[in-house]
Amino acid sequence: MTTIGVLALQGGVREHATMLQGLGAAVRLVKKVEDLDGLDGLVLPGGESSVIDRLARSFGVAEPIREAIAAGLPVLGTCAGLILLAERLENPAPGQQTFGGLDVTVRRNAFGSQRDSFDASIPVAGVEGEIDVSFIRAPIVVSHGPGVEVIARVRDAIVGVRQGNVIGLSFHPEVTGDDRVHRQFLAEVARHDG
Ligand code: GLN
Repeated sequence: MTTIGVLALQGGVREHATMLQGLGAAVRLVKKVEDLDGLDGLVLPGGESSVIDRLARSFGVAEPIREAIAAGLPVLGTCAGLILLAERLENPAPGQQTFGGLDVTVRRNAFGSQRDSFDASIPVAGVEGEIDVSFIRAPIVVSHGPGVEVIARVRDAIVGVRQGNVIGLSFHPEVTGDDRVHRQFLAEVARHDG
């Protein structure tokens, strides 16, 4: 059975876990380094990226996650998860660090504050049709290196990227009940394992 880890330090952990379980995956909540053993894929949820970063470093999982990403583990980051995957942040919180994995520069809270959150139906490369997603204090990708493929845009901004085994999305595909992004991620995990 496919086992997907969901980093469970803060944020929208349960929504991802429920969606992955609904698609037949086993889910392991990742809080410490042993929880990373033998995972087939890892999801970094939305939340507050500076808090997740601080907790990940103090729980000792930041460096092992960095190594797992570099070793090719399939990873899906949403919203704060995208921020954690960025090599560079345009406007980090004081002292904020990232795991890295995506050769991108990310601007946090790019659409304004909480009241500027919005829902949209957008195409995402590799996923059939348009998907219903929520942007909640969402980041955008302001620049990226040549190895990065843009897979989604909204309002002319880059809101979805992939680079090898790593996918980063600005939005929340897990809150609207539309499971096509997770389905696609599990298909990629299966290809990676096979
Ligand atoms: N603005 C948040 C951050 O900087 C991300 C918001 C989200 O994950 N919904 O981490």
